[in-house]
Amino acid sequence: MIAPTDRLFLPDAYLSTVEGKVVGIDGEGGILLDRTNFYATSGGQPGDAGFLERADGTQISITGTVYGDAAKTIVRHLPDEGAPVPVIGETLVLHIDWDRRYRLMRMHTACHLLSVVCPYPITGAAVGENESRVDLDMADVPDKESVTLELMQLVEGNHPIFTRTITEDELAANPGLVKSKNVRPPAGAGTIRLVCIGDEASVDSQPCGGTHVSETAEVGAIHIGKIEKKGRENRRFRIRFGALDRG
Ligand SMILES: [Zn+2]
Repeated sequence: MIAPTDRLFLPDAYLSTVEGKVVGIDGEGGILLDRTNFYATSGGQPGDAGFLERADGTQISITGTVYGDAAKTIVRHLPDEGAPVPVIGETLVLHIDWDRRYRLMRMHTACHLLSVVCPYPITGAAVGENESRVDLDMADVPDKESVTLELMQLVEGNHPIFTRTITEDELAANPGLVKSKNVRPPAGAGTIRLVCIGDEASVDSQPCGGTHVSETAEVGAIHIGKIEKKGRENRRFRIRFGALDRG
């Protein structure tokens, strides 16, 4: 029986390097550690890549990170083909590909901001390094320039981003906090992690287990590249880095 992985990315999304101990290698070669800063694929955000450094300096390249169980308690680090296999009990230094993760943090935060600008039920989302997509259940077709403008006002407002823990009962009493149409926060865990934006969460708060930047200005320049129609009442927004090209 493997103990749950201590997921250090939850309290600290900025932990790019940390030590961890190998507690197991699963049947498919996935490396299990006592704790990790590697984000595991969940909630539309891809898992981290990077490398695990052994005491002699050799590197175990990690191509992806996923959960090993439905309850999302065990994190599996997926080694590159041919990478050295660590031994149980070995201490490794865990290096995430920080440039990639930071882009994902900025993009993931941008998705939250879009849900503030367009407050409609979210039917799907995928965070990417260069582009993210968010599907919203809305009949109107908004103008991408005005959505971009409102997004950038939130970015430039440099609102703080922080997390808060509430109970399942508190969430049940505030159903408006859940923005996803089909995905509910896991029940039975007792507590829910809320990601809040703005002083006293004045801009937004919603349940989320992903990684975010700590101030909205860190998102940087973003724009809506495209708004596609996906069915009568579904709009697919594509968020991209950089300023809107008005050409
Ligand atoms: Zn989030």
